[in-house]
Amino acid sequence: MISMWDNLRNKFRKEIGIDLGTANTLLYVKGRGIVINEPSVVAVNTRTEQILAVGNEAKDMLGKTPPHIITTKPLTNGIISDFEVTEKMLRFFISKISEEGYGLFSRPRVVIGAPLNVTEVERKAIGDAIKNAGAREVWIVEEPMAAAIGTRMPIREPVGNFIIEIGGGTTEIAVISLGGIVIWKSIKIAGEELNRNIMQYARDNFNLLLGERQAEEIKIKIGSAIELPERMEYPMRGRDMITGLPREIMINDTQVREAMIKSLRVIVDNIKSTLEISPPELVADIHERGLLLSGGGALLRGIDQLIARATEVPVRITDDPLTAVVRGAGILLDDRDLLLEVGTLMT
Ligand code: ADP
Ligand code: MG
Repeated sequence: MISMWDNLRNKFRKEIGIDLGTANTLLYVKGRGIVINEPSVVAVNTRTEQILAVGNEAKDMLGKTPPHIITTKPLTNGIISDFEVTEKMLRFFISKISEEGYGLFSRPRVVIGAPLNVTEVERKAIGDAIKNAGAREVWIVEEPMAAAIGTRMPIREPVGNFIIEIGGGTTEIAVISLGGIVIWKSIKIAGEELNRNIMQYARDNFNLLLGERQAEEIKIKIGSAIELPERMEYPMRGRDMITGLPREIMINDTQVREAMIKSLRVIVDNIKSTLEISPPELVADIHERGLLLSGGGALLRGIDQLIARATEVPVRITDDPLTAVVRGAGILLDDRDLLLEVGTLMT
């Protein structure tokens, strides 16, 4: 029997969807929508072990800190590489949204996305980090599954749903049918590797040392996966390796594409090989329904066309690709049956 107390408690109980990404962490609160959308970066004072800043504020400090302050990204390729800092970051974000002071009622139920290639141990680490950060109940769902749900793909039907999630650290490719992942691939080439490619290009061709943030800015401002009708240029600012002095060089879209092309080919090749090993019945569906792109990497100009040309299958980009996973987690908070089908309760 459900008591009045339970009713009351359910009314005030927080339900949170989390996308704990290598690049960005997003929190969705039931009834409120996406309330946190910030970089997964933490600044720590190593003298006092104190957290100085989290999220946007910490990202602004990247590469600009004195020796006793370190800015760290606690996740690498979607996997927790620094457990303690991840937990602190989550605790910070959760407390930020709990400021209304629900007191007794505040221990939330959480649905969180995790990459496909995590081990049992790593899953447990994610679950423990969330629990230590204050959650009462933690459900884990695979990220491409969450993104597909966030996009409202018909994942429960007996049809092939092909999804490509290009994040910061990993590109995850999955074929979903009947509420389960039929085949998948996860590769460690994604948005951050593209940034590194641009840094490498600047070093090799111009003896210019670029910061990671500069490289990302260039990628976002003028990066593309295919040749575009208009030519674009952007000033690349770094340090000349020979003189040691600051220098600015104009870089254009062709050069940026040249820097990234190898990595983009690896992504495309993995999509093709996933199609090649998909069961024929599902391939027929996929040809008809197309491939779906999500994650921040889906925003790279022309990436949809590059993939469509190589696979000869239509490609669609999900609306607001940076939020698809967390929106999927939000949908799961409301759909217990679906959550039981696609999620794992962490004990
Ligand atoms: P994660 O889930 O790993 O945190 P996200 O899905 O949040 O990753 O995507 C972050 C990645 O998307 C970053 O590497 C970022 O540089 C890239 N990104 C964001 N916007 C754009 C854009 N407009 N063009 C190209 N890449 C982008
Ligand atoms: Mg992600």
